[in-house]
Amino acid sequence: MIRRIINKVFGRKPRAPGSGAQILPLAAHGIRRDQLDDCALKVCETLAQAGYKGYLVGGAVRDLLLGKTPKDFDVATDATPEEVRRLFRRSRIIGRRFQIVHVMCGRETIEVTTFRSNGQKETEEEDERPTDEHGRLLSDNVFGSMADDAARRDFTINALYYDPAREEVHDYFGGVADCKKRVLRMIGDPDTRFREDPVRMLRAARFAAKLDFHIDPDTRRPVATLAPLLANIPRARIFDEALKLLLSGHALRGVHQLRAEGLHHGMLPLLDTILDDSTGERFINAALKTTDSRIAQDKPASPAFLFGTLLWPQVLQRWHALESAGEKPQPALFLAMDEVLDAQRSQLAIPRRYDGMMKEIWALQPRFEQRGGQRPYRLLEHPRFRAAYDFLLLRAESGEVATELGEWWTRFQEVDEAGRADMLQADSSPKPRRKRKRKKPGEAAGGETQPA
Ligand code: ATP
Ligand code: MG
Repeated sequence: MIRRIINKVFGRKPRAPGSGAQILPLAAHGIRRDQLDDCALKVCETLAQAGYKGYLVGGAVRDLLLGKTPKDFDVATDATPEEVRRLFRRSRIIGRRFQIVHVMCGRETIEVTTFRSNGQKETEEEDERPTDEHGRLLSDNVFGSMADDAARRDFTINALYYDPAREEVHDYFGGVADCKKRVLRMIGDPDTRFREDPVRMLRAARFAAKLDFHIDPDTRRPVATLAPLLANIPRARIFDEALKLLLSGHALRGVHQLRAEGLHHGMLPLLDTILDDSTGERFINAALKTTDSRIAQDKPASPAFLFGTLLWPQVLQRWHALESAGEKPQPALFLAMDEVLDAQRSQLAIPRRYDGMMKEIWALQPRFEQRGGQRPYRLLEHPRFRAAYDFLLLRAESGEVATELGEWWTRFQEVDEAGRADMLQADSSPKPRRKRKRKKPGEAAGGETQPA
């Protein structure tokens, strides 16, 4: 209590780096050693046997605490990267400035990080860390104690360390209690921490959506003002973060959370135009929902497909505009694709390696309209048919094309050869062919001889 008052009076943050952790026994957190994967357990044990600390840290502890299956396991240690590498035969040092060690066992990789400090001192006057004019930290690469390591992490629920040997959780900032309350709370002063690394704002939106947590009001408050700082972050890092959000299994909630916090300008600037249009909104919502359910079923979700859906409303708009201006449908579509891809590069920087697949999926869309002759068979054999068909279903779901078109293609894949022939006949019979034969005298208008 007295310490808290002193902290308040002298402007010191409570539990500054260097203060101790609360050590919680199994009964308080419920994470048993056997819930860890073998590889992570072995890494922690090997480190301990060599006289180092080895704790499970970050997302894995948080997810176990919440009864979720962690997607990967990270380990933090007081051993230097070089010392870690020497302990594990199958390991390698990754990165130059910020070195981490990848330890491989079986097909798995465990990321081992040496405790780091962000160099923060007890008082602001002593703090001499290099930042840019907005407070962005320019260096984050000093080894430190475990307490320093906890203090440089972003949210209280991400600063939990699990010791498998003793089945204890080291909790520096009340992360276990916040997990129980389902609160996402920034460690330290939110304004300063968001300025140090504006990407933390995107992470806040992602974790809130993924975990269905409520963002603590003090943590949330500075976001509206600081959101424009995302403009100073390298586009590649923003893209990585966008991908993490979209593939988190909670993309639908995540994207809407981003918009609610006003963060999408810095990450998915195209979102405003899309969501302001009801067909666009239905299309994107359907796409995000499908992605989320694929991830829930452990099915792969392709980034190219996803970004293809995010950009489609713009492609569609440009395509129609160019057509109305007199361009033929096919060249209009190709022009629209290139224009949209060029324009997004300055905003979101989707890597060029996805362009090929996005373009193929888009370019196949008009071909679904052609349901006569050999064309449907040829489309069916196209290597991108499956992705393009899934894309068509989203267009049908959002009302951009007729539901019947999607249903036709679903049926066409299911029925046997005779069924397909019937479908083609049934579909092509009422429509006049483009190239009409010259009418013979006495023949009915538009009449065509049906194949026997
Ligand atoms: P996920 O389940 O999405 O992987 P995670 O919490 O493991 O969630 P990572 O991006 O893998 O997230 O980061 C691992 C840990 O590193 C985090 O839990 C957090 O403690 C710390 N961390 C990552 N990025 C930052 C950041 N920008 N600022 C501060 N700490 C960070
Ligand atoms: Mg992680």
